[in-house]
Amino acid sequence: MNNAVVLVIEDDVPVRNLIITTLKTHDYKFLAAENGAEAIMMASSHNPDVVFLDLGLPDMDGTDVIRQIRSWSNMPIIVISARSDDTDKIEALDAGADDYLTKPFSVEELLARLRVTIRRLSLMNSESSDQSVYKNGKLTIDYSAGVACFGGEELKLTSMEYKLLCLLSRNTGKVLTHTYITQNIWGRSWDNDIASLRVFMTTLRKKIEPEADSPKYIQTHVGIGYRMLKVD
Ligand code: CA
Repeated sequence: MNNAVVLVIEDDVPVRNLIITTLKTHDYKFLAAENGAEAIMMASSHNPDVVFLDLGLPDMDGTDVIRQIRSWSNMPIIVISARSDDTDKIEALDAGADDYLTKPFSVEELLARLRVTIRRLSLMNSESSDQSVYKNGKLTIDYSAGVACFGGEELKLTSMEYKLLCLLSRNTGKVLTHTYITQNIWGRSWDNDIASLRVFMTTLRKKIEPEADSPKYIQTHVGIGYRMLKVD
């Protein structure tokens, strides 16, 4: 899917040019907008495959751009934030962003995020024919049977670990915040739920990560949340 059309929303000209040049060099098609109103209009009229969105826009907060786009589309949105403050990223992810990049970022990092997102798109497209069985590396989940296997062996999961695994797998490639996960699993998000989440994540990982020190399937985003990665 190297013909992906990427909408770049960024008011800072040097940063916008850097992103556009990078996309051009790697044969991606692109559109560019420099404020939120223009961005929303372009997103609705051109239906891009992926959006790169700066959170600090001149006319509105980037998080409001996400909310507006999410009212009619699930197109992947990768947030670009100059702010090192995690709360902005968390707010953007909870509003429906898929991933984030922190300024200053490298071109390699930008391309890596784009590849992860495009793989997520193609995974979603290939899954649309058969939604009931999930395959990722050695991991398979038969959602209708409620069975998860690793390397062909059935996993002995507690119901909480299974719920967590299903939630992460159904959102492969997307960063899920602690709040999003706990609200989906417990229907609330208290501090002790986030602490419990860490415990369940540790026990789940012991069952699906061959190397505890370098997890391949579930990535930790310190202070933010977790993401299931697509594994070959
Ligand atoms: Ca800006």
